[in-house]
Amino acid sequence: MTWHTSKIEISRSAYLNNLKFIQSQLPENVKFSSVVKGNAYGHGIQPFVNIALENNINHFSVFSSEEAFQVYQVLGQRKADIMIMGMVADEALEWVISNEIQFYIFDIERLFQAINIAKKVGKPALIHLELETGMNRTGLTNQDLSEALNAIKKNDIYVKVFGACTHFAGAESISNYVRIERQKFRYIEMCSFLQDELRDVRYFHACCSAGIMRYPEMIGDLARIGIMQYGFWPSYETFIEYSSDKLIKTDPLKRIISWKTSIMDIKNVKRGEYIGYGSIYLASKDLKIALVPVGYGYGYSRSLSNVGRVLVGGKRVAITGRVNMNLIVVDITDVPNARKGDEVVLIGKQGDLEISVASFGDASNQINYELLTRLPESLPRIIVG
Ligand SMILES: *Cc1c(COP(=O)(O)O)cnc(C)c1O
Repeated sequence: MTWHTSKIEISRSAYLNNLKFIQSQLPENVKFSSVVKGNAYGHGIQPFVNIALENNINHFSVFSSEEAFQVYQVLGQRKADIMIMGMVADEALEWVISNEIQFYIFDIERLFQAINIAKKVGKPALIHLELETGMNRTGLTNQDLSEALNAIKKNDIYVKVFGACTHFAGAESISNYVRIERQKFRYIEMCSFLQDELRDVRYFHACCSAGIMRYPEMIGDLARIGIMQYGFWPSYETFIEYSSDKLIKTDPLKRIISWKTSIMDIKNVKRGEYIGYGSIYLASKDLKIALVPVGYGYGYSRSLSNVGRVLVGGKRVAITGRVNMNLIVVDITDVPNARKGDEVVLIGKQGDLEISVASFGDASNQINYELLTRLPESLPRIIVG
């Protein structure tokens, strides 16, 4: 291990497995955009983008200009498209345009700024028009779109419309069905208007992971895939729907991430003693405990106090007492051979057992997305086979 107290392992073979599965769900010629916002959902932009490139992925989606810069640095001499789906800092716009980074336009003011900077740097801004179809987050309304098209036509050497897109307000749940049907309708309407006005829009795109599974008719030319490439279903519902449809029992996706540390110290606690801060854990018998050097300061949620589980010596063992900033204490009475330095699995497999992100998330009341993206950037990420 390194000087860090824990490490994250990223499995190359699991990624390949997921990629194959997702590609099998996409019609031919659909561009696969790998969504790597949120530090690649906690997996680490650096290792993750490298693995994706090895597997011929050449389109990456991020939220911000800062994340785009990180991907750009990982690319080095290698060529791939980068698309910013959210915030471009004013200060970054010039860099974005000069480096041919694609970005969403969801307001007119930004379009004019982009045109001005494009004139200055002598390169067109590569944009995707984000359409407001009912999510009521970011996006151009019908009126904005008409205005934008006027400006684009007048400045057509300074702006290239690479794409037109929208995002559905919760494709992972059937409870949003009616709302999404309305979005689909508006999106189709706006796209046909756009196509009449502009002939050479390259990518129409609307689907995230849940979108490709539940609204495949909306895939268009490009799919923005986040959570599924990391081996997670957007919701349990999406998996149930897929698996009952296909009559399969095993999950075609594999988790890529594991989180591991090791035992820092071991000691015995007498019956009747409290463990750690306060008095929330009373030893009801003589116990052997292990100190494990992770805590909420490393993304291990404090709400796992007294309820979290980790794997030690091939057994599932319980957290006793509070999760501290840098430490947890686990009961290893049933693992008599455990030694200082032995592996502790926080997320992932050990022997036949597994601590899943889902169970970890359920216990700490976080969804997969939240839990993953809270894993600190500072933890080392190691690519394994
Ligand atoms: C995050 C995001 C995605 C990817 O969503 P997943 O559910 O992780 O596949 C796609 N599109 C947009 C606009 C996003 O913000």
